[in-house]
Amino acid sequence: MHEQRKQSVPPFEAETLAYKIRNSLYLNITNRCTNVCIFCPKFKEYKLYGNDLLLKSEPSFEDVMDAIGEPVAIDEIVFCGFGESLLRLDLLVRIAKELKQRYTYRIRINTDGQANLVYGRNIIPDLAGLVDCISVSLNAPDPSTYIRLCNTPFGADGFKGVCDFIGAAKNLIPEVIATAVNVPGVDMEACRLLAESLGVAFRVRGFTNG
Ligand code: SF4
Repeated sequence: MHEQRKQSVPPFEAETLAYKIRNSLYLNITNRCTNVCIFCPKFKEYKLYGNDLLLKSEPSFEDVMDAIGEPVAIDEIVFCGFGESLLRLDLLVRIAKELKQRYTYRIRINTDGQANLVYGRNIIPDLAGLVDCISVSLNAPDPSTYIRLCNTPFGADGFKGVCDFIGAAKNLIPEVIATAVNVPGVDMEACRLLAESLGVAFRVRGFTNG
């Protein structure tokens, strides 16, 4: 698998499995998503800060660890590419375990918060002790706005699922942050109040896909 990946790169542009932004190393382990968010830049192109995040195939554990290499000048490693990392839960857990054994870097997951709906169980205990921070894309203050923005396949349950996921994560993960993309017309203050009612911090993310 790994040799095939190496041989298939030229003459094509190399895909990016690990990319650095400031003091964070981001891991791009899947392009699959549960949602189809209307603001997602990937529907225009899979480029981010000059990195090509379009995967030719889903990387293996060895592929990702090779891409991480021996990182320098970073504080944290983040599971966040153009895809929902928790759709590859087993791989993510295996990588996080390996990283915790090798390094002291903080480990963060950026997620849509629907993994418990996808798996039909609470997956937060799988991450406890391995993940230091989970940033959950709340994105809306109510189910109808969430459906409109994120096209969740779970309908009204999708929004409730995100809120429940935040509540479950708060009990076992040291830091949980709810975020919302500042889409015009979406009430950021209502999102903030909801996040606070769920007992977590809130952060607004820039809307760039205009
Ligand atoms: S979950 Fe993230 S990567 Fe997936 S469509 Fe939404 S914004 Fe894009």
